[in-house]
Amino acid sequence: MVNEESRVAAFDKMSWNKEQRQEWYKQQKVVRSYQQEVVSKIEALTSELDISKYGELDYESCYSLFVLKTTNFNANNPTILITGGVHGYETSGVHGALRFLETRISDYTDRFNFIVAPCISPWGYETINRWNPDAIDPNRSFYTNSPSMESQSLMMWLSAQEVDVLAHFDLHETTDTDNSVFRPALASRDGSEHNNWNIPDGFYAVGDEENPRHDFQKAIIESVEKVTHIAPADSNGKLIGKTITQKGVINYPVKSIGLCAGLSNADYCTTTEVYPDSPKVSEEECIVAQVAAITGGLDYLVQNREV
Ligand SMILES: [Zn+2]
Repeated sequence: MVNEESRVAAFDKMSWNKEQRQEWYKQQKVVRSYQQEVVSKIEALTSELDISKYGELDYESCYSLFVLKTTNFNANNPTILITGGVHGYETSGVHGALRFLETRISDYTDRFNFIVAPCISPWGYETINRWNPDAIDPNRSFYTNSPSMESQSLMMWLSAQEVDVLAHFDLHETTDTDNSVFRPALASRDGSEHNNWNIPDGFYAVGDEENPRHDFQKAIIESVEKVTHIAPADSNGKLIGKTITQKGVINYPVKSIGLCAGLSNADYCTTTEVYPDSPKVSEEECIVAQVAAITGGLDYLVQNREV
């Protein structure tokens, strides 16, 4: 269960009171089906992958949380973690993880073990949301005694597996609604100021400030660039307010701010950011870009880590 004290502490940090949180929650509407669009695709993969349920979210509807593992984990092979839908509204993250499983994983299973959680926030998927029903962002909640059931369930399951993760790909999008909906809501929730920033037009990646792995991120950018355009930095050399470290890459202190990418202590981690609202891309290209990010990173590890 999610830690109740921690949940209350998260509420205490908000400037919204309980009524305001509930008011926000009541405005959210289910507009697409996790079962039909995600679970059905997961179930279709049972012949090639082991599927486990790592938790359940008991909201107005109940959501089972699924993780897929390569069968016959080989102790001599390094393990790769792929996560999608931490922000449920970021569609290509969910479908990029599934597409990798459907089309490319078999190219890599002789070298790597895989653990894949394609949709960490199913309620957010169904209601096109960044937060969970408590108005808590799961992607700021990957820490001990998390106030978010979405984050806590995966952390507990993963720690029980006792596996060392070599690389973690956490699949996201940056959307126009970040500026028009989600960041204004965040400013309202926290009583903070909303400074608009330009939504980058194109793909970018976020590395870990503490362990940036520049060459790994570069390989990801070069792979994605073959299928879609990379976001140019703004006139200040920044993407979403952060100075780029190389073309299409910024770094965040992923662990200290509770990002999913800091979940596993992986030696290599990246957060992918696809821009689905660009006039230059289709929904399909966004999915393909997520797959290219994963394969670019894996190919780098094959070539440079002798796996
Ligand atoms: Zn996101």
